Amino acid sequence: MHELSLVVSIVETCENLVYKEGGKAIKEITLIVGTLSGVEVDALKFAWEMGVKNSVLEKANFKIKMEKAEAKCDSCLQHYSPKTLYEPCPICGHYGSNYLKGRELKIHLIKMVRK
Ligand SMILES: [Zn+2]
Repeated sequence: MHELSLVVSIVETCENLVYKEGGKAIKEITLIVGTLSGVEVDALKFAWEMGVKNSVLEKANFKIKMEKAEAKCDSCLQHYSPKTLYEPCPICGHYGSNYLKGRELKIHLIKMVRK
């Protein structure tokens, strides 16, 4: 499952962070999920339950924020919000826009419990 490997890598990032900062655990974490990231929120929540066991994230308050996709047309420079990864510019019909937002899953905010 794709989502579980994402959770595993988030756990690793947070374990490293807590170790580096000399903290104890993560109190709260907010993830940003792009609408074109291919991540399924339900699958992510399910993977989260399994993936954070016995880690610094086990008791963390877990939040998800969706991020709407945003693209900029290479040709007419128009910004728009695509619903798929292969959508032409709505103004000039050009394919090959730059996707600025919405393609990734990233950590937005972490609150740590200090020792
Ligand atoms: Zn265009």
